[in-house]
Amino acid sequence: MFWLKTKIIEGKGSLGRLKKEARGHERVLILTSRSMKRHGFLREAEDYVEEAGAEVLSITGLPAEPSVEVIEEFLPKVREFGPDLLIALGGGSVIDTTKALKVFYDAPELNFEGIAFMDRFSKPKPVPKLRTRLIAIPSTSGAGSEVSGASVLKKDGIKYNIVTPEIAPDLAILDPRLPMTMPREVARNSGLDVLVHGIEAYTTRVANDFSDAMAIRAIKTVFAFLEKSLEGDEEAREKMHYASTMAGIAFLNARLGLCHAMSHKAAWIGPHGLLNAIFLPYVMEFNASKSDYARKRYDEIARELNLKDWKELLSAVRELNERTGVPELSKLIDEETFMARLNGMAEKAYHDGLISFNPVEPKPEEIRELYLKAYRGE
Ligand code: NAP
Ligand code: FE
Repeated sequence: MFWLKTKIIEGKGSLGRLKKEARGHERVLILTSRSMKRHGFLREAEDYVEEAGAEVLSITGLPAEPSVEVIEEFLPKVREFGPDLLIALGGGSVIDTTKALKVFYDAPELNFEGIAFMDRFSKPKPVPKLRTRLIAIPSTSGAGSEVSGASVLKKDGIKYNIVTPEIAPDLAILDPRLPMTMPREVARNSGLDVLVHGIEAYTTRVANDFSDAMAIRAIKTVFAFLEKSLEGDEEAREKMHYASTMAGIAFLNARLGLCHAMSHKAAWIGPHGLLNAIFLPYVMEFNASKSDYARKRYDEIARELNLKDWKELLSAVRELNERTGVPELSKLIDEETFMARLNGMAEKAYHDGLISFNPVEPKPEEIRELYLKAYRGE
């Protein structure tokens, strides 16, 4: 099966589409973060909504890498305003927060632990039909949350997913003017997440020809354009912006694997894209050493990039990390703190739902080894 719920509008200036889309709505709530206000995109979005004749309210303080506490903090404000359209204007963090708020606004009887994938061996409660319309306008080029059915939130420093088609946005507006203002580090971290999404989605057990097409195009774009985009090249930023959504469509269908399971459980250490970039080469090496299928799939990606085989792909991934300045894990966290949480992280990663899609089923002990290798930079 291949599906996509979200309608996609792309192109420079496409933020203006809000004029049309907000029409017919009474109360529109824009959820965003500081940078969007600073760079004037919030003002612009508010103007379009007002031109459409709707009442608009904006909440601007949404944090990066959100924890479940953000729901308690912002849900009362959402309820008080009573919107019939939610607009998430920002990075993956803003979009994920808005998706979670939509769930508990539309279905107040639910709670996070009840519906999140806390453990792959137990099934969460189904989410009922949700009514409030959701438009996502990504300002980073990475998470793919503007098309995905997932919202990722931290609890005690560890990330868990809510996954349901009900929170996949109804519309995604990809205006390449927005990611132009990303600082280099945000562009790099989110851009490398696109690569991880592409490579993981291409190698899961449920990938198909349709998700492959999206994954491959995204992977090729990262290798061709990420570094130029980090220099601020406009065309490259635009290409990366669309590639991010393509990778999102790939993993919406093919899901993700061990690398995301590991980064979710290490979320207390640093930003999502950066952790993924650090873990990816270790996970690829592990998958390739254990599975003919993984090697075959990595070989296919390699050939698309005019490389010989999976070994050359692995080198290319490592070199891209180096050239873009991805630090070693040991630069992000001191050894004592890391070691104290290591066993818990490995155990929790083993219980992450994404493990079921990875080409290899790792043992908790093997995940522990991978964390350690990444820490030691081996
Ligand atoms: P992000 O956490 O949304 O944004 C990182 C920072 O970039 C923010 O602090 C923001 O600063 C700044 N920023 C964003 N856009 C900017 C712009 N255009 N100009 C200047 N600054 C900008 O980064 P992200 O990589 O997109 O999202 C990461 C999150 O997405 C993680 O929580 C991860 O778990 C999640 N994720 C979700 C999915 C999914 O399917 N749902 C998939 C992958 C990742 P301000 O706060 O100052 O605005
Ligand atoms: Fe990701």
